[in-house]
Amino acid sequence: MRAVNLIRFAGAAVLALSWTTTNSLGQPSDLVIRGAQVLQCNTDMDLSSAVAVRDGHIVYVGETGQLDGWIGESTVVVDAEGNTLIPGLIDSHLHFAGLGHALQILDLNEAPSWAAIVEQVTRAARVLPPGTWIEGRGWHQSKFVTPADQQVDGYPHHRQLSAAVPDHPVLLTHASGHAVFANQAAMQRAGVKAETSDPLGGEILKDDQGMPLGVFRENAARMITRAMARDTRPRNQEDQLDRLRKEVQLAGQACLRYGITSVHDAGSSFATVDQLAQLAAEGQLPVRLYVMVREGPAALRARLPQARLAGVGDGFLTVRSVKVSIDGALGPHGAWLLRPYADLPQSSGLNTIPIDDLVEIAHLCRQHQWQLCVHAIGDRANREVLDAFESGLGDQVQSDHRWRIEHAQHLSVEDIPRFGRLGVIPAMQANHCTSDAIFVPRRLGERRSAEGAYVWRSLIDSGAIIPNGTDAPVESVDPRVSLFAAVTRQLGNGQQFYPEQCMTRREALLSYTLWPAQASFQESEVGSLEVGKRADFAMWDTNLLNCAPEEILDANVLRIWLGGQEIQLEQ
Ligand SMILES: [Zn+2]
Repeated sequence: MRAVNLIRFAGAAVLALSWTTTNSLGQPSDLVIRGAQVLQCNTDMDLSSAVAVRDGHIVYVGETGQLDGWIGESTVVVDAEGNTLIPGLIDSHLHFAGLGHALQILDLNEAPSWAAIVEQVTRAARVLPPGTWIEGRGWHQSKFVTPADQQVDGYPHHRQLSAAVPDHPVLLTHASGHAVFANQAAMQRAGVKAETSDPLGGEILKDDQGMPLGVFRENAARMITRAMARDTRPRNQEDQLDRLRKEVQLAGQACLRYGITSVHDAGSSFATVDQLAQLAAEGQLPVRLYVMVREGPAALRARLPQARLAGVGDGFLTVRSVKVSIDGALGPHGAWLLRPYADLPQSSGLNTIPIDDLVEIAHLCRQHQWQLCVHAIGDRANREVLDAFESGLGDQVQSDHRWRIEHAQHLSVEDIPRFGRLGVIPAMQANHCTSDAIFVPRRLGERRSAEGAYVWRSLIDSGAIIPNGTDAPVESVDPRVSLFAAVTRQLGNGQQFYPEQCMTRREALLSYTLWPAQASFQESEVGSLEVGKRADFAMWDTNLLNCAPEEILDANVLRIWLGGQEIQLEQ
């Protein structure tokens, strides 16, 4: 990308200037890290051994032996003892408040069966007053070792859970986030009956008697989540802000532990953005947030002209992008496909927003210079979004719009080169590839899986960059899983999922550093260790560029700095 070359050039100019300043005025730095293996994660992946920081920014990157002018009486000098220094990682797609919330509810990710989940919920119910909502997250019917009793189309029936937990409404979110499970009490609170019909872009699964099964896919899930929100939402703004503050703190700690200093939040309302702005101004955001606004066309029309935020609270909050979802996820058969599912021939998935709305939002984004990020998983969904982008961008297709498709998981062969050609950024979470691989060929058949599933190599070769991430709390926020998946495509059982589509090690590191910075227009601020950028970096005990692939999963963050300030990691 040309922008990056310009910045590298500007960086070199600043470097020369800094040397002059130091030598003539004797201005040392605040912090020096020396004796490190510094992976700069710039486009050339330059290596060095020392970094100096002043006023929260990097003022020198070079060799330990050339630090003389930078160390003064008040400079904090850290000897890295050969450990590795890399930029703070950037997770380019997760749900920040959702992650903080998920850390406070039942974690169903490790449950080996539906019976185990029923048991987990039953135990929680024992200590809660009747009528209290019980919430959990992470179940996945395709990952059960033993299938559920009374199952319909692979999904469990609510009877077992409703009998075990009759007095508490229960809402269990699918691992993908694209479906929820409700027991009888929750369906009652939501007013769902046998005759309740499917909402637009959603589906209430029914058993062979025509009774609701307990599974609510895509937009139908809102019936249950809204009922819960009505019962549990804090009544006043102060309590709402307190709740968000707690979620933000928990999510931030989870990120920092893994060396993540910036996050792209994949969808918050204007109301949440306003609260985040308040926290940012108070200096209470634990990591830097780049927030995508998720609202309908009417709210966007009203607020886009003046809602942009750039670097509130010393670069901690930036808002200049819009998030839209056009389909669901592959796991619950919600991804919108060009041809029917191999294992559900009566369905081609779900379209969750009218195309006219998407096109209108694209025009609004262009008019007000906002970035547009659209969730699209199925090949039909991706094609529709690429078409809408072309229509919305018009003659600006060639300009630096950096519009994104979130996930871009399953592509038709003809559409792959369109990403590079249109300058559309596929924001893909490598962990989804290795965690979904076990059911991808079942859903899509062999040919579609081979040609179009998580085609990182083909996309990069077509000229695209791929910002990486985790989609937490859909998956763990652990970046090592996505880095390992990116370079191996290796499943837990040792099998590799179409390994010809692997990223190189260098690309994988860029996918968590410089590429996400570019995908948020922030490559002059973060994403690499270069002069002029914010001093966000972490010291790791493992060199992620040249360690053995398996060692990536065991690598640990030793220390971490944000804006030049060391953050104490909580254990
Ligand atoms: Zn997401």
